[in-house]
Amino acid sequence: MQIAVIGTGYVGLVSAACFAQAGHQVSCVDTDISKISRLERGEIPIYEPGLADMLANRNVRKRLTFTHDATAAVSKSEITFIAVGTPARPSDGHADLSQVYAAIEGLAFALRPGAVIATKSTVPVGTGDEIEHLLRSQRPDLDFEVASNPEFLRAGSAIDDFLRPDRVVIGSENERAAALLTRLYRSLGIGRERMLLTDRRSSELIKYAANGFLATKIAFINEVASLCEKANARIGDVATGIGLDHRIGMQYLKPGPGFGGSCLPKDARALAKMGEDFEAPMRIIETVLASNEARKRSMARKVASAHDGSLRGKTVALLGLTFKAETDDMRDAVSIPLAHALVEAGCILKAYDPVANDRARGVLPPSVRYCGSARDAVDDAHIIVIATEWNEFRQIDFRHLKTRTKLPLIIDLRNLLTEHDLLNGFRYVGIGGNSRYAANKSLAVSVRAPSDATPGRRIERRSSQPAAVSPAE
Ligand code: NAD
Repeated sequence: MQIAVIGTGYVGLVSAACFAQAGHQVSCVDTDISKISRLERGEIPIYEPGLADMLANRNVRKRLTFTHDATAAVSKSEITFIAVGTPARPSDGHADLSQVYAAIEGLAFALRPGAVIATKSTVPVGTGDEIEHLLRSQRPDLDFEVASNPEFLRAGSAIDDFLRPDRVVIGSENERAAALLTRLYRSLGIGRERMLLTDRRSSELIKYAANGFLATKIAFINEVASLCEKANARIGDVATGIGLDHRIGMQYLKPGPGFGGSCLPKDARALAKMGEDFEAPMRIIETVLASNEARKRSMARKVASAHDGSLRGKTVALLGLTFKAETDDMRDAVSIPLAHALVEAGCILKAYDPVANDRARGVLPPSVRYCGSARDAVDDAHIIVIATEWNEFRQIDFRHLKTRTKLPLIIDLRNLLTEHDLLNGFRYVGIGGNSRYAANKSLAVSVRAPSDATPGRRIERRSSQPAAVSPAE
């Protein structure tokens, strides 16, 4: 098929690469000229595991073109995907649709007969109707369809999520458009049983309801983690104990510093606003948002109380800056309010992220010193704060790191090191009752692994985390 993808960010670029790999001709459009130039030179503007290799493949590359000329790209395409950003509007939290409407401006006269415009961007209910109205008012004669096709990929596992999705949602009551989109996804090897065909408005709402539910799960387990800390219980076992119930499930039950990222916070906010607009208040989501804001704010207090003294003049190594591991996305990352609060409290901040030091410069306080490795950041620090669950932090042998204080402190906001054997001499504070001196190995509990189908068979596991968790949002 001939496909156009408008917007070559995390979603657009991954979608385009996957469609090209499946044999389709894809024109990628972006208004960011420097991004297009970089892509034309073979440079990948984002960090997403597997994407560079996919785009380096000769067969994929020859099927991809990069342009800022939307009209030319759309005029030859059977399907045009809109994959531009829909951030929260700063003034009121509604989804800002200005990029979407800018993307369709001028497209009406470029569309070829029978074209399908599929919205991959996350847009509020009724946006497809509005897009259709705008295009039809300019081309009343033209046969075209506007469909909704929300994207559920996660940064960090985007290619796998795109090629092996839990489901593909196609929102169109037009049989031809639905069949065309179904055929496209079938060409990626996705079975019909994974495709949900529905109307456009339901499809638009599915995306928000899904993200609202995931945000709720995270906010819930974070509150339970706080309760564990006060009640002297352990969140790892509590999360496992509830997650083993198939009605609940293990995913998104990992406690942390609050959810961030480019999707959950802004989609939860937009869902709450949609509830207001339709006079169907989303009280649970409103509470989830308030809970998450409070959680993020409380992280600097957690550092201060774990340190048990003034933070002024203390050197803090902040490890991990992105909103989660395996991405360079800094949007709404929890490291941002945390870094600002720590600097305001008088800390000297040394920061390190495996892939996002450069991106972080624009959003963290200017006084932050960026380090080339975790080892550099930790060297001479009084306090080590782990803010993102990058795997490489698990490999650090903290015993060999020079630090100023006799009993240096690790505050692990992701419970990444709860089973780490290399922390001798450090005081360790995790989330949800996972505080200990690292030499203490007496945290053995007996739980049944979720994957262990043998009734009565039990595995020994030291208590810390849910036995199986998804990457945190
Ligand atoms: P992004 O900000 O990374 O990329 C958007 C791209 O669109 C940018 O390159 C921008 O220059 C380009 N753009 C803006 N206006 C344009 C226009 N008029 N014409 C052409 N290009 C234009 O965004 P993203 O993270 O890829 O998200 C895109 C959409 O997908 C959003 O609605 C988001 O909510 C949704 N989504 C994102 C993810 C994710 O993990 N990032 C997952 C699922 C869904």
